[in-house]
Amino acid sequence: MTRNSLNMATGTLSNPTARRVLVTGGAGFLGTHLCTALIELGYEVLCLDNFFTGRRSNVAHLLGEPKFELLRHDVTFPLYVEVDEIYNLACPASPILYQRDPVQTTKTSVHGAINMLGLAKRTGARVLQASTSEVYGNPTITPQPEEYWGNVNPIGIRSCYDEGKRCAETLFFDYWRQHRLEIKVARIFNTYGPGMHPQDGRVVSNFIVQALSGQDLTIYGDGSQTRSFCYCDDLIRGMIALMQSPADVTGPINLGNPVEFTIHELAEAVLELTGTGSKIAFEPLPEDDPKQRKPDISLAKSSLSWEPEVKLRDGLVRTIEYFDKLLSEGEVELT
Ligand code: NAD
Ligand code: UDP
Ligand code: UDP
Repeated sequence: MTRNSLNMATGTLSNPTARRVLVTGGAGFLGTHLCTALIELGYEVLCLDNFFTGRRSNVAHLLGEPKFELLRHDVTFPLYVEVDEIYNLACPASPILYQRDPVQTTKTSVHGAINMLGLAKRTGARVLQASTSEVYGNPTITPQPEEYWGNVNPIGIRSCYDEGKRCAETLFFDYWRQHRLEIKVARIFNTYGPGMHPQDGRVVSNFIVQALSGQDLTIYGDGSQTRSFCYCDDLIRGMIALMQSPADVTGPINLGNPVEFTIHELAEAVLELTGTGSKIAFEPLPEDDPKQRKPDISLAKSSLSWEPEVKLRDGLVRTIEYFDKLLSEGEVELT
C-alpha cells in the first residue's frame, strides 16, 4: 500500500498542522475529485473557481460540509486569504476550450501562477502546480522522462496552453530559487473519469457520449496517435502524495498511466464496452496534435511510492456508467 493510500484509508493527515487548503479550479473535473478527497481527509477546503469550464453543481455535494467553502474568483486577480497549502489547478484543460479564449488561457497560467506564488510567499504555504504533459509538446522521445525539455511550437494554436504552463513552471522554480518557497510541480498526463463535462471535447468524454447516443465516434486523423490514460482516482492519490512529500521533492514529476494506447484502440474499446451500433468517422487532425504521449513514471514510483492501479477498461466502465446516468437524466444536450 502506498504512503498516501494508507493516509486515505486511515483518514489521517501526514502534516497535522496543514489544515487549510486552497484549491484553484476546484469546481472543474479534477478539482472536484481533489476537493472531495481533501474533505474526506479532514482538511478545511477553500475551493476557488471562475466557472469558465467548471460548474457550481460539480461541488454541490460538498456545499453542506462545514469545512468546505466555495469562492467565485479569477486567479488572474490577486487573492488575500490565509492558507497552509495551495493546489493550483485553475486553467481550462480541453484543447477546444483553452483555444476559445487563448489570451485568457495564457493569462490564467501566468498571472494565476504569479498570484498563487505571491500568496504562498506571504503565507508560507506549500504550493503545487498542476502542470501538464503538454510541456513536452510533440515529443521526439518515448516514454517522456522529466529531464526531457520538450518540442513545443511557441506560436501555434496549442501554445497558449503549452507555453503558459511552461512559463508557470519557470515561475515556480524561480520563486523556489529566489524566495525559497516550498513548491511541487506535477506534470499530469491525460486523465479521465466520472465528472468530466459531457461537452468538454476531450477524447474519452467525446467517444463515450457519442457511443451512448448512437452517433459516430469522431477520430481525428487516422487514429494512430497515442495517449496514456490515467483514471482520476489514481491521479488524485498521486497529487496528494506529492503535496505531502518531503520539502526537497519539488518535481517536476510525471503523474500518469504509462500504458499507451492509440486513439483507434480507445475507440474500439468504447465501441465494445458500450455495445453501441455506432461506427467510426474520421475527421481532420487538428494543428500541432501530438503524435505520442507516454509518461516515464520512475520518479513518481521511487519518490512517492505511487503508481496507477486502475486499468483502462475498468476506468472506462465506470466512466460509461457515469455518462449513461447523465444521459438518462437528460443532463446532456446533444449537438
Ligand atoms: P477543467 O477544465 O475541468 O477544470 C479547470 C477549472 O479551472 C474549471 O473549473 C475552470 O472553471 C477553472 N478556471 C479556469 N480558468 C480560471 C481562472 N482564470 N480563475 C479561476 N478558475 C479558473 O480541467 P481539469 O481536467 O480538471 O484540469 C485541471 C488542471 O489539471 C488544469 O490546470 C489542467 O491544465 C491540468 N491538467 C489536466 C489534465 C487532464 O487530463 N485532466 C492533464 C494535464 C493537466
Ligand atoms: N499576491 C496575492 N496574494 C497575496 C500576496 C500576493 O494575490 O497574499 C499577488 C499580488 O498580485 C502580487 C503577486 O502575488 O503582485 C506576486 O507577489 P510577490 O510578493 O511575489 O510580488 P510583488 O508583490 O512584489 O508584485
Ligand atoms: N481526439 C479524437 N476525437 C475526438 C477528440 C479528440 O480523435 O473526438 C484525439 C485528439 O486529436 C488527440 C487525442 O484524441 O490526438 C487526445 O485528445 P484530447 O483533446 O483528449 O487531449 P490532448 O491529449 O490532445 O490534449
